[in-house]
Amino acid sequence: MLLASTAIAASPALAPAALADVLVDNVEGVTGDGKGGVERFEGFLIDRDGRIAEVYRHGDKRPKKVDYQVDGKGRHVVPGMIDAHGHVMATGFAKMTLDLTMAKSLDEALARITAWAAAHPDAPWILGSGWNQAQWGLDRMPTAAELDRATGGKPAWLVRVDGHAGWANSAAISAAGVTAATAVPQGGEILRLSGGKQPAGVFVDGAMALIESKMPRPRPEDRDTALGEAQLALLAQGVTAIADMGTSIDDWQAMRRAADASRLRIRIVTYADGVDNMALIGGPRPTPWLYDDHLKMNGVKLYLDGALGSRGAWLKAPYADAPESKGLPRMNETQLGNLMSRAAMDNFQVAVHAIGDQANATVLASIEDLSATYKGDRRWRVEHAQIVDPADIPRFGKFGTIASMQPQHEASDRTMAEARLGPARLAGAYAWKSIAATGATLAFGSDTPVEPSQPFVGLAVAISRQGADGQPFNGWQPQEAVSRELALNAYTTGAAYAMFAEDRLGRIAKGYRADFLFVDADPMLATPEQLRATKVMETWIGGQMAWSAAKDRVIPAKDTPGR
Ligand SMILES: [Zn+2]
Repeated sequence: MLLASTAIAASPALAPAALADVLVDNVEGVTGDGKGGVERFEGFLIDRDGRIAEVYRHGDKRPKKVDYQVDGKGRHVVPGMIDAHGHVMATGFAKMTLDLTMAKSLDEALARITAWAAAHPDAPWILGSGWNQAQWGLDRMPTAAELDRATGGKPAWLVRVDGHAGWANSAAISAAGVTAATAVPQGGEILRLSGGKQPAGVFVDGAMALIESKMPRPRPEDRDTALGEAQLALLAQGVTAIADMGTSIDDWQAMRRAADASRLRIRIVTYADGVDNMALIGGPRPTPWLYDDHLKMNGVKLYLDGALGSRGAWLKAPYADAPESKGLPRMNETQLGNLMSRAAMDNFQVAVHAIGDQANATVLASIEDLSATYKGDRRWRVEHAQIVDPADIPRFGKFGTIASMQPQHEASDRTMAEARLGPARLAGAYAWKSIAATGATLAFGSDTPVEPSQPFVGLAVAISRQGADGQPFNGWQPQEAVSRELALNAYTTGAAYAMFAEDRLGRIAKGYRADFLFVDADPMLATPEQLRATKVMETWIGGQMAWSAAKDRVIPAKDTPGR
């Protein structure tokens, strides 16, 4: 503390740090209350540890003497947004590799691939992501032969926008040693050329590892760069904490390196990629909060099925547009129960990816089963819960189950969901309001990089069920839109609860970490269009500015006391 006061005495102008009492005043503030409502405030005091010491409403007495004062000049303040489901390292790597999200046709995608390859002659593989054949007006998957036209003989591997399929060229397929005779891994699919067994180029879900296990592994310094890129992208959108879904030991080490070097500004709560990584990272139990509440490992992420786009989602009845298929379960109910049990016995939190109605029914059944053995506050997480049989929706309201859902998926995927499911099965699709009405905690996120982490876009979709084009006019299945209050809580207090952080994150209230944003609109009053266009001006974490629009870079942390 001696160091701290010296630093402040020497440079008072640089003092908006956690090392001083900071009064933020003259703001139009709103925060979720953790009970589904909101509270208004005009100012708050941050203590020297970066926590909120007091919140001031109209007419409340302010302290006479503080180390530093921030005049909000009437700007809007909201709590830092918490992305309840994202992939931090993949978000960073997507920024470092070829991005195909904007390609509107196969030819345009191939042109971008050729250009990227020419610009990166030293890259041993051509790597990228974001393609979507539906966006190209293609009613089939692309092929290796098509990719060969753009890549020549260099191996190429391009992951589909949903992360649940990859497109390889001939060089990658032969580098990976995949032939007509290669066995199909469980929960996966190798698309074949018509009339034979030759791999066609696209590998779905469990089969992706056939190629990915043979790719050059990123170096530790590449991972450091990726984490930095992800952090910048998240802070710029007002995300101050994120649940990382599927953390590998390499990812965890990159996060530790960043935190050790005081480069980790955002808070990351991790869910290990499978029980082996869970045991490697956590050992016998979840980690405690590390680095002043910047990093923690809570539990495990398990995949029960794939995604709708690649028809990997596990359905009760066949796909409307592929009557021979009900999707690709990654495991059966017994296997899922065993893995969930393995995690729960050591008090790890369990988060299960479930997209299709059969996957959701199966994970809900496993939760019911295991709750008899594993009592107490477990907060079983169902990730996505996209397509749920209406008969199963009430089951979310039991055993402390959390529905971790992503509003942006509804806007992006609604027409594809209609094609895959047909009209009869849409009643329980992206059913945020019905699921919340069961008493389940709703935690909102983005699934970045599948969708960009843009909480204000997510809020706009959550209250309108409309895309960026304002379509459909009254919203898609508009009865499932949620209130502004519920949406804001789902991105803050609900997401905090889902990661066992509701005692410290998600609210602007006494005792909470001072994570907050200056934004240019009031989320309780803005139209959906205004909400979508909301600009984050400053992102503060632990009482320190971590990002500002004026600088547009991550602002380095001061050493915080108590490390
Ligand atoms: Zn995900």
